[in-house]
Order: sequence, then structure tokens, then C-alpha cells
Amino acid sequence: MASIARLPMPLQDVWEWQYDAACKGIDPETFFSPDAERGPRRRNREASAKALCAVCPVVQQCLDHALAVREPYGVWGGLNINERENVLQHQRTG
Ligand code: SF4
Repeated sequence: MASIARLPMPLQDVWEWQYDAACKGIDPETFFSPDAERGPRRRNREASAKALCAVCPVVQQCLDHALAVREPYGVWGGLNINERENVLQHQRTG
């Protein structure tokens, strides 16, 4: 009998956690930096995004997703790209 263990999960299951996201309906610009954004403006925007992540019931699923697919932009699971890269680096080096 053929195994289905290696088949991809249905997309609905993969993304279902997003239905409970604290950022649902929030302007995506809160989480993704416009081109050339720097300094205090960037820090303030990221702080607003992270405040939402801090009370989000699916923060772990969100972070797991971002780390698994190497999301290159934005705040996911309460971490920006540099912070996620640090986590990945730590996981690689133990
Ligand atoms: S952890 Fe943050 S970015 Fe992820 S779903 Fe929740 S509020 Fe949105």
C-alpha cells in the first residue's frame, strides 16, 4: 500500500493558524518596511508590530512558519529579519 506520509499537507491546514492572528485586518505596512525606511521611523513601526505579536495567540506558529520558509522581510512571530537570522544561526551552531 502506498504511503501518504510524504504528501504535502492541504494548504488550508498549513495556513489555518492565520485565522486567529492578532494582525488580521491590520495594515500590512505595520509589519513590512517601506523602501528606504530607516532609524526611528523603522524602530517605531517595528515596535507597533511587535506589540501586536506579543498578544497574538498564534505567535509560535507564525514564528515557526517564518523560520521554516526563511521569510526575508517583515516582522513575523515578534521578530524582524535580523532577529530571525540570529535564531537560525543559533539553531545551526547549537
Ligand atoms: S505573531 Fe505577529 S505577525 Fe504573526 S500572526 Fe501574530 S500578530 Fe501577525
